[in-house]
This record gives sequence, structure tokens and C-alpha cells, in this order.
Amino acid sequence: MNRGPDQSLEALANATGAQSVTVLRGVGPAVAEALEKLGIRLLQDLWFHLPLRYEDRTRITPIADLQVGQSALVEGLVTAVERGFRFRPMLRVAIEDASAATVTLRFFHFRAQQVEAFAPGARFRAYGEVRYGAQGPEIIHPEYQRLQFAAPLTATLTPVYPATAGLGQKTIVRLVRDALRCLPSGAGFDLLPEALRQRLHLGDLRSALWKVHAPSADDDIAALVAGRHPAQRRLAVEELLAHQLSMRRLRQLIRAAPAAAIALPSLRRASLLAALPFALTGAQQRVLAEIDQDLQSGAPMLRLVQGDVGSGKTVVAALAALAAADSGVQTAVMAPTELLGEQHLRTFTQWLAPLGVNIVWLAGKVQGRARRDALAAIAGSADIVIGTHALMQEGVQFRHLGLVVIDEQHRFGVHQRLALRNKGVAGSAVPHQLVLTATPIPRTLAMAAYADLDTSVIDQLPPGRQPVQTVAIKASRRAEVIERIRHAAAEGRQAYWVCPLIEESEQLEAQAAEVTFDNLRACLPEVRIGLIHGRLRPKDKQAVMAAFSAGEVRLLVATSVIEVGVDVPNASLMIIENAERMGLAQLHQLRGRVGRGATLSSCVLLYQSLPELARERIRVMRQTHDGFQIAEKDLQLRGPGQILGTRQTGMIGFRVADLTRDADDLPLLRDASEWLLEHAPDAVEGLIHRWIGAGVNFAEA
Ligand code: ADP
Ligand code: MG
Repeated sequence: MNRGPDQSLEALANATGAQSVTVLRGVGPAVAEALEKLGIRLLQDLWFHLPLRYEDRTRITPIADLQVGQSALVEGLVTAVERGFRFRPMLRVAIEDASAATVTLRFFHFRAQQVEAFAPGARFRAYGEVRYGAQGPEIIHPEYQRLQFAAPLTATLTPVYPATAGLGQKTIVRLVRDALRCLPSGAGFDLLPEALRQRLHLGDLRSALWKVHAPSADDDIAALVAGRHPAQRRLAVEELLAHQLSMRRLRQLIRAAPAAAIALPSLRRASLLAALPFALTGAQQRVLAEIDQDLQSGAPMLRLVQGDVGSGKTVVAALAALAAADSGVQTAVMAPTELLGEQHLRTFTQWLAPLGVNIVWLAGKVQGRARRDALAAIAGSADIVIGTHALMQEGVQFRHLGLVVIDEQHRFGVHQRLALRNKGVAGSAVPHQLVLTATPIPRTLAMAAYADLDTSVIDQLPPGRQPVQTVAIKASRRAEVIERIRHAAAEGRQAYWVCPLIEESEQLEAQAAEVTFDNLRACLPEVRIGLIHGRLRPKDKQAVMAAFSAGEVRLLVATSVIEVGVDVPNASLMIIENAERMGLAQLHQLRGRVGRGATLSSCVLLYQSLPELARERIRVMRQTHDGFQIAEKDLQLRGPGQILGTRQTGMIGFRVADLTRDADDLPLLRDASEWLLEHAPDAVEGLIHRWIGAGVNFAEA
């Protein structure tokens, strides 16, 4: 550890990215340990430890121009200091500048010396996020400095890094810069060959890294802050390519393995088709034929079936599962919620049990004896296992898993899909994968997010469906809506009343639903009303759903648990409270719960107020029933993170890329990744390793 500065410089001169960060000056055991927490062990890890954002301290903002929500550097004289102890200690310092406006610096923790320093008339410079305060703009706990003399401003943007305890921003900035000095200058470092860079109009990696870590004074500051600097684009495109390549690699690896053998034609298919109360639509037949072809091809199927809400994806999956059962291999059907899983259990049982197919249920809440029985069946005679995430747990051993069906893909991530698939590695045959989603994903996005899947589209609804009449009504006219339910119930129709909250709290959501439930019961004593939310015991949930399916319960008060997949054709009225708070995709999903039977259905969107964006959403909902159009519009209004559900799944945790900002580059990925696979296969490995690392488990793929 006794390393003199000279020795260290010498070490650095010959350093490579694969060397430990401990070759850097000032990295002893404690710092090394803190870096390790950030996943940084080697010099090259520091190169790719990219800034989260930048702070612009290159200029002083006149206080009169401060904008709430913006971070800014201000400078001025102290005009007043106030120390308070009302609820907790507080220090407020008013600063005024030449723009004759005042900003308050507010502290909740401070020392006596600090208070003394803020003497009226003293000059201060402060940096922080501006908020609305009682007396105008304020900055809470700003970084600040007392100026005795005129002090120069920082010449460049200040990068802000992901940090960890025991490691300040200043240290990270210094270490990154020291590490950058070891960037190799040779050609091998840039994994994107010159020819490809030219095609994509990208700069070289070395300069891009210097730019983003250590921008210079004459750089385009606005572009960097907005993430639209060419250097950032260079890194984002490389990262997107790495993801694309890793998904394709995954696909190749899976497809190279032999598939579970499923023979066609399926023996009992004709019996099921004859027993169904409807004929398949042309679109369903076409998609089923595509699936059949995959199942027969000898390679594992990797197929995404997109179909709008109510297009009839379930029966297609059931037909594939029946084919698997006919060949003696098992199917796992995984649903994102218990409610939806249970519904599949009912549907599959109704369709397939009469044909002698053995169906088993497994969810996290199945415990004790029931669980042991389920596990025994899964390892034995079960043909189809339906459940939730619980299917992926360790200890769940299939006899011979041949087909994996994942419903409503957007709630699961790539890795979860892999985990279930890995259950099937019996010998070397790999199960087929069928992924169903009602989220119509715009094409370019689908290519970025599901590069490993082939796609089929059920682009036709079953005949006789009437469009759901959609109206928007102010919440103050609630009484009229309640009358409407009274009439509908009297005519034997059924209704949903959905109370979603924007907060992602199951508890708050449940409370809101309970209040509405009590309220509606008081208004509609003659109507049998049920309540369902995520916090009910599974047994109670089942009982309510069964009663609603059977038509005994007329009005179902629900939280957004019913958003996905619930299918009760007799329900023809849907009330959605606080509709202005919901995104288009969610509204479309909810509305899709009605309009499934022969009766003309309607959907009432209740709102408290209609800000511009909400007005636009409701207009779209009234105008169209086409999920694809709605998705395109949703993409415009909200951005893809929301659409793909990355929030829930962390499906794509990009470091620099941003699917909204980089939307224009998405269409390039396919060609570019093909070009790389063909012309620079060695670089592919390196790219995946650099950006994704051990995140994807190829070894087991
Ligand atoms: P989704 O694609 O949203 O999952 P479902 O599979 O739940 O849709 O199907 C919606 C409803 O339509 C179900 O009641 C189902 O039985 C019915 N259905 C499916 N296919 C047809 C068809 N070809 N003709 C009539 N009804 C159908
Ligand atoms: Mg469905």
C-alpha cells in the first residue's frame, strides 16, 4: 500500500482496462470497497460508469428568472436571516441580486458557525433545485459558498454520477478522469468498426467517452443536458445494439437446441373445435397455423402473439396446449396476476377437462398439503399447469415441460421468461415459448424490445362485437350514472365500477374501492354488489369472481386488478372513476372488459376535471377502438417506458439509451446488428459483455 506518486504514474502509463482500479492513486481498500458496491472493479468499469446527468454551473441565473423545478446557480447578497424552531430547527436565508428578486435558502440541519457566516450583506453563491416556497422561490439545502472576492465560474458542465456511501462525487469525478487517461488509443478498443460508424454517422468511442465524462467549455451544453449530444448518441446506439445482439444471440442459442417434440395434427383438436360455442376467426386460424408450423419445425418456437383486447388469444393458446398434451408433454401457462390465472384455470378446465386433459393450479398462495399435491402432479400426471410467478420457483419440477405460454407479456421481463424456459431443459430438448400480449406495440419498439421473438398478429375481432359506446361524464353527475346501473341490473345486465388510483399502492387502492363499495350499496340496496381488490384473501377473490361470472353479483366494484384479461361476456356496462388520471393503454384494457357479448355495451369515463392531456386521451378513447391506433397515440403522449411496462419489470435497464429520445435510431438496429454479425462477429461478444455483462444468463440458454 506504500505506493509513491512516481510509482503510480509509471503503473498508469502501462495500465489496461482490465487492470484493477487499485492502480489509481488514492484507491485504497476502503475506496475499492465503495467502488465495488457500484460494480466497479476494473479501470474499464470506470470508463463506462456514465454520468446520470449534468449540473450547469457555468453561468449564474438572475434570481428573477428562476424557474421552479430547475437547478440553478444564483449569486447575491444576504438581506435577511431567520432562525426558527416551530416544529423542528430551521434556518432561512434571503438572498437578493441585481435583478432585484429574492430567493430563500432553507436549511433543516445546520451548525452555529453556518448561521454566523450568513451575515446580512455577505455575498453568496448557491446551487440547487428551485421550488415554490411560502415567500417565492426557495432552494432547500443548496450547495453554497461565501465569496470574499470575485470568483471564477466553472468552465464546463459538472457531471453527476451514480454514487454510493463513502464515495463523494468529487472522488468519482477524479477517478473517472484518471481512468480515462488510460484509454487505449489503438483501433481495437472501439468495437464498432469504422465502416459501420460511417454508415450510422457515429463518432469514435474514445472521444465520445471523454466528451460525456469531461465536457469542455466550448461543447454544446444544451445538447449534453438534454442527452442529445452526438457523443451521447454514439454511446446510446452502441448500447441499443448490444441489447439487440444479446437478444438475437439468445434466440440463436435457444433455436440451436432441439425442441420438445409435439406431433401434429393434434388428436383431440377436432373434438375441442366441435365443442366450442363459436368458430375460430380467420385471424385465429392463421395464427394457429403459424404456431403449428413452429411446433413442427424441430426448433423451439419463440413466438409473440399480439391481439387486441378480446380478440381471442386464450383459445389459440388452449389449442396449442392441447396439441402438447396429445404428444405427452406438459404446458405451463403463466399469468401476471392470480385473478387472471384463475380465470384461465376456469376456461381451460371448461374446454379441456371434458377431453380428459389433467389441469393443475399453482400460485404462491397455494401452501401446505395442496402445494405438495400440486407439485406431485406437476412432476407426474399433469398435462397443463396454470399459475403465476410461482411456477418459476425452485422446487417446481416438471415431468416434461414442452410448451410455455406466457399471458400478457408486458408484465414480465425477458429474464423471467428465461427462468421458466430453463425449467424445461430436460436432457437437451427445450420447450416452445408462446407469449400473448394485448399491448399492441408499435413495430419499431417491438423490434427493440422483442428482437428474440417472431410475431403473429390476431388482427380481427370475433364477429358480432359491437363497439363500446364511450362517454365522458363529470363526477358531479354521479347520481345519473348510478341510475343507469339500476336500470341495467333490472334488465339482467352486469356492470363493473372501477376505482383506480394513480398511486401505486395496493392498500390505498383497496381503501378507495371499499368506500365506493359501501357508498354504492347504500344507493342501490336492491342490486347485489361484489367487491374485489388485490388485498382480499384468494378464497374471497375466487368467490366474488365466481359469483360475478355466474351472474349472481350484478355490479362488481373493483380496483385495476381487473385491468387485464378478465372475461365475463354478460357484463355490458363499465364505469371508470378518475378516468382523467389514467393512460390510454390502461383505459383501453379496462374498456375491453365489456363489449364481449351480444348486448350493446357502454363505458362511462368519470372525471373530476379535464386538463388538456386528459381531454386528448378521452377524445381518442371515444373516437377509436383500435388497440394499435391507441398504442401509437399512447406512445406519443407518454413515451415507451410506460407502454412496455419497464417500470414494473425493469425489463430494459438502459444506461444511456432512452427509447423515446432515441426512437429515430431504433429502425437502424436491425440492419446494424446484422452487419456486425456478418462482418465483425468478434466484436459482438465484446459489445454484449461491455453493456450487459453477466446480466443475461447465456450459459443456461
Ligand atoms: P383476449 O385476446 O383478450 O385474451 P379472450 O381469449 O379472453 O380474449 O377472448 C375473449 C372472449 O371471446 C372470450 O369469451 C372467448 O371465449 C371469446 N371468443 C374467442 N374466440 C372467439 C370467436 N372466434 N368467436 C366468438 N367468440 C370468441
Ligand atoms: Mg387474455
